[in-house]
Formats: sequence, C-alpha cells, structure tokens
Amino acid sequence: MICSVLKNTVAIRPVRTLTFRSLSSVVAPDINDLEQEQIKQANEAYHGIVEISVSGDRGWGVFASRDLVKGERLIKITPFSFTDTPNQHSIQIDWKKHMNVDIPARFVNHCCNEANVGIKIRDEAADFYALRDIESGDELLWDYETTEYRVSENFPCNCGSSRCRGTIRGYYAHGNQVMKAYGPDFIAPYLLKKTPLK
Ligand SMILES: [Zn+2]
Repeated sequence: MICSVLKNTVAIRPVRTLTFRSLSSVVAPDINDLEQEQIKQANEAYHGIVEISVSGDRGWGVFASRDLVKGERLIKITPFSFTDTPNQHSIQIDWKKHMNVDIPARFVNHCCNEANVGIKIRDEAADFYALRDIESGDELLWDYETTEYRVSENFPCNCGSSRCRGTIRGYYAHGNQVMKAYGPDFIAPYLLKKTPLK
C-alpha cells in the first residue's frame, strides 16, 4: 500500500523530491544539527525494529527494519512538553492538551483509513502499535485523525489510499470514518467521551 502524507509534524513541510536512501547517505533539508543528532540516537535506540529515513517525496518517514507482528508495541512516544493548542509537532491527548512529541514519533507519516500503526495513549505518554503484520522495509503510517480533534492547519492529503479523505481536518470532520476503520481501541479516549468541547 502506498499511503502517505506529511504528518501534522512533517507533513506540512514543502514536498521534496528525494529518493529513498539510507540515512547514512542523505542529509534531508530543513532539519538542524540537533534534529540530525536526535535521528541518529533514535535509530540507535530502535535498531533492528524501525528506522528513520527519507520517504520518497514526503520528507522523513519511519520504516520497519524487520517483519513486525500485529499487536507489537513499536515506538514509545515521549512528550517533551505540553500545550493547550495543536501544532505541527504535537499529538492531542485531551480536549485542551497536546503533547509535543519526540523523534521518531513525529516522523511517522499519515494515511487515511488504511494506516498500519495506531496510537494508544497512557497517562501523559503513548505508544505506537502495529495494527497488522508489517513487512520489513514498509513505511509505518498512522491516521492523524485518530488523535487530532482539529489539526493545527488543514492540509491536502495525497496518501494514495482508495479511501483518502482529500483534506485532513480532524476527528470532528471524519470521526465516523475513523471509528469504522480502527474501532475505539486506537482512537484517543478523550474523543470517545461525551464531554463537550469547551
Ligand atoms: Zn489520504
């Protein structure tokens, strides 16, 4: 499956025309020295599981380093701060609470309805899980609208899914599709509460 879009983190960046190469042979544009070092550290920490690399014309992406099994916990999402409004580097965990997340989490690109990884939120952190078996080399893709009630900025989606939503807005716009695609286990719990947005 070819599903992708720049995530609300990397996704809104200008589309680049990079071909897939290993990190050792490419320095992608618009990252600074600190991010380059964080990528290196993340790839060491997740060696043999996942690897951050350049994802075609989508900027950075995260790829399976081996065959991954449905149900595996793959990536720990560690917030380095919280905000009450969304941004391109945040994941929403409550009506007015957004985690600014670390690498590799913020390099996982988006896919509509056919994502192969999903997020489970626990307290003030979260984890990515494999939603199905994923072959070595495949890109990990998740559906931003499983956590984001309203993305920081709507963006056009060209993920290639047969059920692409066209424009990514947030759960408020596509909640029925999201629920049908993933069920409640991989939708942010706050979105399932009856509590109205304040
Ligand atoms: Zn799409």
